[in-house]
Amino acid sequence: MEHNHASSFMDEVSSSAPGGEALRTCIQCGTCGGSCPSGPDMQHTPRQIFALIRAGERDVVLKSNTPWYCVSCYYCTVRCPKEIPVTEIMYTLKRMAVRDKAFDDSKAPDFSKVFIRWVEEFGRSFELGLMGVHMIRHNPFGAFKIMDMAVGMVTKGRMAFTPTRIKGLDGLKRILAKAKELEAQA
Ligand code: SF4
Ligand code: SF4
Repeated sequence: MEHNHASSFMDEVSSSAPGGEALRTCIQCGTCGGSCPSGPDMQHTPRQIFALIRAGERDVVLKSNTPWYCVSCYYCTVRCPKEIPVTEIMYTLKRMAVRDKAFDDSKAPDFSKVFIRWVEEFGRSFELGLMGVHMIRHNPFGAFKIMDMAVGMVTKGRMAFTPTRIKGLDGLKRILAKAKELEAQA
C-alpha cells in the first residue's frame, strides 16, 4: 500500500477505527490531551497526534510512544466536542505500529507508572458515571481489568484516598461488579 501522500494516512486511520471518520472533523481544541492521565508521559498529545495524521506524518505517528501510554480510560472520548473516538484511534495506531514493526520496545510504558498516574487522576477528577457507562458499553473487559487493579491497589492500601475518593470507590466497585457480570455472560 502507498502511504507517502498526505491524505492516505488520514484515510487509513479514519477507516480503520470504528467511528474513525469523525477524526477529519477534529478542531484541535486540545480537550483530549488536557483530560489524559498519561499526557505527561506521552511524546505527543492526542491533539498533536491528530495534527500529525492530518499532515501525513506516518512514521512520526507510528513511532510515537503516545498510543502505548493510552490506558483506555475514555476521558478524551467522552469529552471530545466532535465525538471523535480517540481511544479507538489509539488502538488502531497500536495495531498499525505492530503491523509495520514501527514500535520500538524501549518506548513501552512501565505499566505500573502509567497505572499509578491513572489512579491519581481518578482520585482527582473521576467522572465515574459517564466514564463507567462508556467503558462498559465499549470495552467491558478493558474496564474490568483496569477497575480490578484499581480496587486491588486501593484495598491493599497502596493509594491514599480521601472521603471523596472513597465515595468514588463505591461506584468503582459497582462498575467492577457490572463488568464481571458482562464477562460471565460473554
Ligand atoms: S478533543 Fe476532539 S476535537 Fe478537540 S483536539 Fe481532541 S480529538 Fe480534536
Ligand atoms: S483513553 Fe487514552 S488517550 Fe484518552 S484520555 Fe485516556 S489514556 Fe489518554
